[in-house]
Amino acid sequence: MSTQPNRPASIVVLRAGALGDTILTLPAIHALRRHVPYRPIVAVGRPDYWSVAGPLVDRIISADDPALAPLFGSTPLTVLPSPIADAGLLVLWRSGATAPRIPGLRTIVAPPLPPPGVHAAAHLLSSLAPLGLDLSPSPAPPGGLLALSPDELAAGAALLARADLHRPILLHPGAGAAWKRWPAERYAAQATALRAGGQPVALIAGPADDDTIAALLARIDLPVIARLPLRALAAVLAHATLAIGNDSGVTHLAAAAGTPTIALFGPTDPASWAPLGDVRILRRCTTVPTHQGEIRVCPDDNCMHALTVEDVLTVALSVE
Ligand SMILES: [Zn+2]
Repeated sequence: MSTQPNRPASIVVLRAGALGDTILTLPAIHALRRHVPYRPIVAVGRPDYWSVAGPLVDRIISADDPALAPLFGSTPLTVLPSPIADAGLLVLWRSGATAPRIPGLRTIVAPPLPPPGVHAAAHLLSSLAPLGLDLSPSPAPPGGLLALSPDELAAGAALLARADLHRPILLHPGAGAAWKRWPAERYAAQATALRAGGQPVALIAGPADDDTIAALLARIDLPVIARLPLRALAAVLAHATLAIGNDSGVTHLAAAAGTPTIALFGPTDPASWAPLGDVRILRRCTTVPTHQGEIRVCPDDNCMHALTVEDVLTVALSVE
């Protein structure tokens, strides 16, 4: 470990999951911030996803940076790779990670995925227990889990105003895997029913959602909010009356932005993966996970079809 004079050693956290996984690490990041506010936090993972953390982290390094490769080998390091050479605390949420053998360096190594029945955010937070942090649930920090600034929120409101959308319901019909998606025609029927009640409705489109959005737009003409940077999207979602989506990163983002959110679950277990926030979970699948690290617990590719338009509409009308 080498530190610059007058510069506190950094905290380096490694979590290389998708957007939802990254958002579920934020309670642990908040805990580290409260515990050692003067130490820079460096996040290692997917830079596009870690961008969601905004001011909560001081620096982001890609887990694919070749200079970090020795960190992922089976031989314990005796010198830290140069991009993280000033680390005083290393938190490796990675299966099979090996703690470096470096005097004065504290290392936490924990699996990134929770055991059955344990929420991922609680699992990551509790892995910090050896540091002696206060892990009790904290009051909502200013700006919520994402620490959205007043300027960011104002930009989100302005974007909706330009699109002539006042307090809309925002639907995100995408998800990383087809088996996590409620059918596009049901989202279309949902949008039709909500709009018939006088409610403005718009779609959120992520970079991998083109086919899903096209299938929906073939059935109903709706405004589409597409390809915003993650924090700009969060600031838009923060002004929605309600967000409805699958077990997807955008659904996690909506909940983290403080928006009332309906999350449609099927083959993944909300006990571990429910978004954090004001969330109603709908799930008809009763399959439960059996071992740590298991994400898909139901083999039925049509699992999401068990949720009806009426199921979702009933909950949506109860939120308004
Ligand atoms: Zn199922």
